[in-house]
Amino acid sequence: MDLDVDGVHQAVSTGAVPGPTHTDTVLARAFERATGHREGAVADYIPALAEADADAFGLCIADVEGGLHELGDTRTAFSIQSISKVFVFALLCDTIGHERVLDVVGANNTGLAFNSVVAIELNDGHPMNPMVNAGALATTALVPGSTTEDRWTTIHEGLSRFAGRPLEVDDEVYRSESATNHRNRAIAQLLESYGRIECDPAAVVDVYTRQCALRVDARDLAVMGATLADGGVNPVTGERVVSAEVCRDSLAVLAGSGLYERSGEWLFEIGLPGKSGVSGGLVTVAPGKVGIGAFAPPLDTAGNSVRGQIATAYLSRALGLNVFASDPHVEEKKGRP
Ligand code: GLN
Repeated sequence: MDLDVDGVHQAVSTGAVPGPTHTDTVLARAFERATGHREGAVADYIPALAEADADAFGLCIADVEGGLHELGDTRTAFSIQSISKVFVFALLCDTIGHERVLDVVGANNTGLAFNSVVAIELNDGHPMNPMVNAGALATTALVPGSTTEDRWTTIHEGLSRFAGRPLEVDDEVYRSESATNHRNRAIAQLLESYGRIECDPAAVVDVYTRQCALRVDARDLAVMGATLADGGVNPVTGERVVSAEVCRDSLAVLAGSGLYERSGEWLFEIGLPGKSGVSGGLVTVAPGKVGIGAFAPPLDTAGNSVRGQIATAYLSRALGLNVFASDPHVEEKKGRP
């Protein structure tokens, strides 16, 4: 479909978050609201993840000026898991262009679980989007490099640039997932049978498993999110990681499928692109404003952090971040001219 926007100026998201003191107050309220929630269960299908502390809870906001607001366990490390998918996707779009990536990987929601095999079969072998495992494996397979190690280096260095510091692989999580990821191996082989993966599927699963095992904390997630909020420039290091166009495209994909089969509900309640991971991490991006990093291991049945979602919903409302919310009469209501 040609929507004919060539030559039309691309305006960017405007508006700012309230001042730092207000942001700290709102962050404290969001934390308080979510902290008592004990629903959900820690993921245990990867044995090493079952050992996570169910009480851990960290919340961090990073703004596009490089300011950080942190509360709770924001320096507790955990494996990034599925949240790596968005940053690998962004790096790849930046390298080979989003047309090619969209052609091979897609951008439509599957409506099914993140590790669904049925979704691939229902769509003639198409992975559908880069946020489910099939699409993430197809994305990792497209990363340029003559060897597996070359591909890994590109991903490892790229994700570290998003975080603004060298990230390390959690060896225990990597080994634990490698020993049990039969389903991801099956998905990669199925994609190979459909001609969607051209290199060795076992090597692709290995790189994907390593990228998922990179250790981050809630503060890293906030900075990584703020880099996408800031048109591709890491607001803490000042380094450009990807182009502004790539941020726009990556956030659109996140809005559609970042929380798997709950993406519609998430967008309805929170109104922002977000990405969850099974270790309890959650990154949310308010374009032009902030990145929010949350960490709380207990998950809902789709694999999304329960406390992370509750806290982020509060922040979105209280800080006026929802991209769909507008009210031309809001100043009148406050009694201002
Ligand atoms: N490494 C995990 C997997 O492939 C990531 C899943 C997730 O975070 N949803 O199963």
